[in-house]
Amino acid sequence: MTAVETDADVVLALEGIGRTYLSGEVEVAALAGVDLTVGRGEYVSIVGPSGSGKSTLLNILGLLDRPTSGSYRFEGLEVSGLDETERTAVRGRRIGFVFQAFHLLSHRSVLENVALSMLYTGVSSKDRTQRAREALASVGLEQRAEFTPTRLSGGERQRVAIARAIVADPALLLADEPTGNLDSKTSDSILGLFDGLRAGGLTIVMITHDASVAARADRSVRIRDGVLSAVGAAEHARGGSGGRLGTDSRGAAHQGAQS
Ligand code: ADP
Repeated sequence: MTAVETDADVVLALEGIGRTYLSGEVEVAALAGVDLTVGRGEYVSIVGPSGSGKSTLLNILGLLDRPTSGSYRFEGLEVSGLDETERTAVRGRRIGFVFQAFHLLSHRSVLENVALSMLYTGVSSKDRTQRAREALASVGLEQRAEFTPTRLSGGERQRVAIARAIVADPALLLADEPTGNLDSKTSDSILGLFDGLRAGGLTIVMITHDASVAARADRSVRIRDGVLSAVGAAEHARGGSGGRLGTDSRGAAHQGAQS
């Protein structure tokens, strides 16, 4: 860490993270020597082709999987050695997920889908419902609260998933190809929602294979064969017509990726 960083400024810090899988007799290194620091309020995209290690990295970031080597500090806490119960607690309270395939409960109402995500956080039932309504309002779906997801368009379903991901006020929003199932106009409006969340101070890590989606973030890191490298500002800006330059003032303090 540099002198300007404190634990409070940093949501996550990976150092020398490796993840190997055993495939028969052969060890496959899905991640090798991954260093990544994401500051509070930063929006970082991780871009890479199929098979490059994106899902493996997302699973580790989201405490769904453990690295085989290296250190992962999440909000100042070393989480790589936590047991399953402890990881579930951190994940449930501090991390929101948005997936390509939405993963909504089709027989529950939109409101229930959002409220149920707070089931194990100690929030009362009445407060869960109230907060779910507020989260739905923040994604423009308060009028759909009583619908089931089956009656919604793809873009609306992803909005519900975003409301569910942010309702418990997480420290980190992890998004895995969130526009992968959407047409370009709908994708743009979903990416606009992420822009708004970032403007509101949420820390976002988005995984994508699409350079124009990646370019919406403050900065991008590339993953290839399990190794991270920084994407230069010029290349990042060229990623898409709607892209913003990586002008985050914290950028210099958070040189996130070294290969
Ligand atoms: P991506 O999400 O970028 O497509 P993955 O993280 O799924 O990449 O995979 C990275 C590498 O790790 C690939 O070579 C993949 O075959 C390998 N891999 C992923 N999961 C497993 C597993 N459970 N067992 C063996 N190899 C795996």
